[in-house]
Amino acid sequence: MISVAVPDTEPRAAGGRRIIVMIGAPGAGKGTQAERLAEALGLPRISTGELFRAALRDGGPLEGKVRRYVERGVLVPDDLVIDIVGRRLAEADAAEGAILDGFPRTRAQAVALDEMLERARARVTAALYVEVAPELLLERLTGRRICSLDEGHVYHVTSRPPRLPGICDIDGAELYQRDDDAPATVRSRLETQLPPMYEVIDHYCEADVLFGVRGDASAEEVTADLLHALASAARSR
Ligand code: AMP
Repeated sequence: MISVAVPDTEPRAAGGRRIIVMIGAPGAGKGTQAERLAEALGLPRISTGELFRAALRDGGPLEGKVRRYVERGVLVPDDLVIDIVGRRLAEADAAEGAILDGFPRTRAQAVALDEMLERARARVTAALYVEVAPELLLERLTGRRICSLDEGHVYHVTSRPPRLPGICDIDGAELYQRDDDAPATVRSRLETQLPPMYEVIDHYCEADVLFGVRGDASAEEVTADLLHALASAARSR
């Protein structure tokens, strides 16, 4: 359990649905923060990267369509991602809202999300940008280790090591390194994914729902800042 006070958060759209978008470069810690916010706010976390990695592991129709992109760290085509997120947001557990982790990643995805939410009489209630200096990202990504049972449990070989090497503190499951966290792939991920991310930031800045926090503090401090940002969003409306 995360023991942070949950303040009155950002305004909700008609119908009370709360859609929170997490934005951050690969390695900024947005997955960790999305998991912590999901727990604190009682909303599901929807991670497109996790949905794709599950497809690669489990096979099925999606696997062949996304493998060549995900393994090279290249963005999956917009229409495919939009379709998957649309289906996922229509599931019952997202009726009250969701924390979107890794989506939207392009301006076209952001526009499509606005449109699909508008049809459901909802909207993005806050976009939270976790900002980390680019020079820190490479070190964070290449040292990252992830729980094989729950990808929200993220460790780092030096800055956040598990109690037992290679084992998740929470689940006791083995930790693994993502294929796309290899140094060569990390560089191309950052080169290809940062420019469209800045367009997504502009999109939410124009919509006046963007809040930025520094992502180089401890996970606990970043979560507290994010919850604080959500509370000030509520007060400023
Ligand atoms: P992540 O776990 O968010 O770093 O995503 C892992 C990989 O999944 C990315 O490098 C992309 O290949 C793919 N991916 C995840 N989310 C998206 C998205 N919104 N648009 C396009 N590709 C995505």
